[in-house]
Amino acid sequence: MEYLSTRNDKISEKFEHIFIKGLSDDGGLFLPKQIKKLSDKEFLNLRNLSYVDLATEIISRFTGDFCTNEKLHQIVKKSYSTFNEHNVVKVKKVEDLHVLELFHGPTLAFKDVAMQLIGNFYEYYLSKNTKKINIIVATSGDTGAAAIDAVKGKKNINIFVLHPNNRISPVQRMLMTTNPSKNVFNIAVEGNFDDCQKLVKEMFSDIEFSKSINMSGVNSINWARIVAQTVYYFFCYFKLDAQEKISFSVPTGNFGDVYAGYLAKKMGLPIDKLLVATNENDILHRAISKGDYKANKVQETISPSMDIQVASNFERLLFDIYNEDSNKVVEIMNNIKSNKFNLDQSSLKKIQNDFISESLNEKEILDTIKSIYKNSGIIIDPHTAIGAGAVKKHNGKNYVVLATAHPSKFPDAIFKAIGKKEELPSHLKSILNQKEQYVVFKNNIQSLKSYIKKNSV
Ligand SMILES: *Cc1c(COP(=O)(O)O)cnc(C)c1O
Repeated sequence: MEYLSTRNDKISEKFEHIFIKGLSDDGGLFLPKQIKKLSDKEFLNLRNLSYVDLATEIISRFTGDFCTNEKLHQIVKKSYSTFNEHNVVKVKKVEDLHVLELFHGPTLAFKDVAMQLIGNFYEYYLSKNTKKINIIVATSGDTGAAAIDAVKGKKNINIFVLHPNNRISPVQRMLMTTNPSKNVFNIAVEGNFDDCQKLVKEMFSDIEFSKSINMSGVNSINWARIVAQTVYYFFCYFKLDAQEKISFSVPTGNFGDVYAGYLAKKMGLPIDKLLVATNENDILHRAISKGDYKANKVQETISPSMDIQVASNFERLLFDIYNEDSNKVVEIMNNIKSNKFNLDQSSLKKIQNDFISESLNEKEILDTIKSIYKNSGIIIDPHTAIGAGAVKKHNGKNYVVLATAHPSKFPDAIFKAIGKKEELPSHLKSILNQKEQYVVFKNNIQSLKSYIKKNSV
């Protein structure tokens, strides 16, 4: 399997390279040169597999000679042994919806599903290469904790996590900043998530800097994360024993998770629609419903992990829609930078074949949490509520909602909705009285670079 960049379709790279790099030197995102559809026979063979076996089968289609299938199976098994659910995820019926719970990993968000795997991919890579790696990652709240848990204490890796200062929930912050491992560095940036993401991208594009520290990225642009997330769409479909096409509603920020669903559809999973559910940061809703792809100012909401305007992975979809023409993508990305981009009607039609969208305001999110709790006794987190509320708003039938975080990560929002405190699971409660360690930085690339350089492995 060879990979190209959305901004240069002439390059040809292997999985190992694109996994370690995360982002292409030209600023583009990596994509496989072709995505093979599963044959009917292959599809049938996946039907009754355990989560670990299914993940091995699906992921191996993308990893090429990175490792043997046997090794991959070992890595997958080890990664998911940290989950509280034997089969990693759980499907629940809530009112007339199905909910796919993805938050049974060590940091209570779906990010663990991909990140635990990635941590062990790094370990395997470093066991074969005498290298050192510095991971730099921006987080809107959940990626950072998941990444830290995945690489804490590992040899020859340091991790630097940039989060927007005071814009994530305290529980989200404490899951990162109470980690005592020497290879973990938390940085609170005075700015929003888009600022953090921009800083990371700038450090990547400074080739001299990024080479000098062997910089690696694990943001949701990393293809390995997308592939790992594709697995649960398949698993859920088989678990429901669906006889017809199903649709998924996906709480969306950076367009990574929902893109994984799109990949599953391209591989042949009978998915009807992917519902892109956003909060008031609704750029993707405006883009998908009207072609209006313009960034507004980031709004702070009770679903902080989705407080994003510039959805990086959308570039992968644009590459597809514009006939895999990387010159066109470069042109579009330049126009987007200066906020001068509208989707034309025929491209919009193409997108609407696979995607629909909805956006929920703060009141609608709280009302959704409240009404689901009242009718079923189940407490869902604000992100998941956006997925569920979007289906209702859309009057959707046959939908699975992706439950992306455990409600205890957002106790204040839950309290606001139902007047009840949702407590952390007992094995995580101790973080609430542990010492936090993090540095606060201005939104300034130079000082950040020197801090990272000084502390790099
Ligand atoms: C990251 C995150 C999202 C958004 O996922 P994307 O892949 O960025 O679209 C939604 N909900 C929660 C809880 C998250 O942590």
